Amino acid sequence: MNDPLNREAWLAELRQRVPEIRPDQALARQAQGALLLDVREDIERAEGMPAGAIGLSRGFLELRIEQLEPDRARPLLTLCGSGQRSLLAAEALQRMGYRDVHSVAGGYARWKMEGLPVEMAVLDGDATERYARQLRLPQVGEAGQAKLAAASVALLGAGGLGAPAAMYLAAAGVGRLTLIDDDVVERSNLHRQVIHADARVGMAKVDSARMTLAALNPRVQVEAQRERLHAGNVEALLAGHDVVIDGADNFPTRYLLAAASRRLKLPLIYGAVERFRGQLSVFDPRRADSPCYRCLFPEPPAAADAPNCSEAGVLGVVPGIIGLLQATEALKLLLGIGETMVGRLLSFDALEMRFRETRLRRDPTCPGCGLEASNDYADIAQLCAAGSSE
Ligand SMILES: [Zn+2]
Repeated sequence: MNDPLNREAWLAELRQRVPEIRPDQALARQAQGALLLDVREDIERAEGMPAGAIGLSRGFLELRIEQLEPDRARPLLTLCGSGQRSLLAAEALQRMGYRDVHSVAGGYARWKMEGLPVEMAVLDGDATERYARQLRLPQVGEAGQAKLAAASVALLGAGGLGAPAAMYLAAAGVGRLTLIDDDVVERSNLHRQVIHADARVGMAKVDSARMTLAALNPRVQVEAQRERLHAGNVEALLAGHDVVIDGADNFPTRYLLAAASRRLKLPLIYGAVERFRGQLSVFDPRRADSPCYRCLFPEPPAAADAPNCSEAGVLGVVPGIIGLLQATEALKLLLGIGETMVGRLLSFDALEMRFRETRLRRDPTCPGCGLEASNDYADIAQLCAAGSSE
């Protein structure tokens, strides 16, 4: 079959057994219910395919066609790049018992040349393989994966909570992640902040995290913002995201974040850890019934009453668990599936290995979302300064 003459003779012989139709005829049949199969490789289809066609690579055709179309009487149309592989595909389908099969002459090249409708493939070959196990979930599928690719999540803190959350969000294919943190990696971070590495002690956390995320999933765009959140930059840093993950380790930052969440109508996924325990909730200002962070904590506590991880200590796995729960809530919000933690507070105790859930209601007198609420950033900053100077 390497001899061109033999190849032509063989294709001519194939054409006698496999009927061909023009692209415009294929389009008409498609409208009447025929199934158009684009048998090119994933990478070829990534540049576009006939509108309404189903992508099924020639190499998988016999293995997957029955799953896709068990009805042997359904009219099938095969299409490839130029109309040769589709002949082979059609012949294979005939042999499998499909009774009404046509190959589209001239393939996608002629389809496009004749100005027939095309659509861009949602996923290219890399994405199809990378996300295969979650694409199988009907709640995700190609449409959900496309939503994730178009989504952006801001992570406040590339530490104990932000590290595991960022890794799984990147792995899941969230298109854009913004990491906000002004710290550098310390050796004492590594027992829980597994996104960093021993060799990167001393490096900015956002840069170290970006290296790990790029290695895990090069498709994801990671923006490193080496800044500490303050009244003057909070809105600029958070605007334009779909969800923000609260991985802050101090109250001034949390209150600023809470205010920005209200002002920007940005869902806030709250997580906190201490010693062997953690907490999780979701505050979604787009929902009228959603409480806010300050329904839970109206005023910042005095510094002495609010030890952070460096003072109180924490078992390394605890922020890992809470951070992954935050990532789970983020994915649900982005995909629009399931029941989020809005209106519920989850408390986790690692020593007892217990999750406890309490109802969290919106407080009409809340200083963050009640009638008298003020979310002025300068006021919030002052409030926290007063609280922590105790
Ligand atoms: Zn509130």
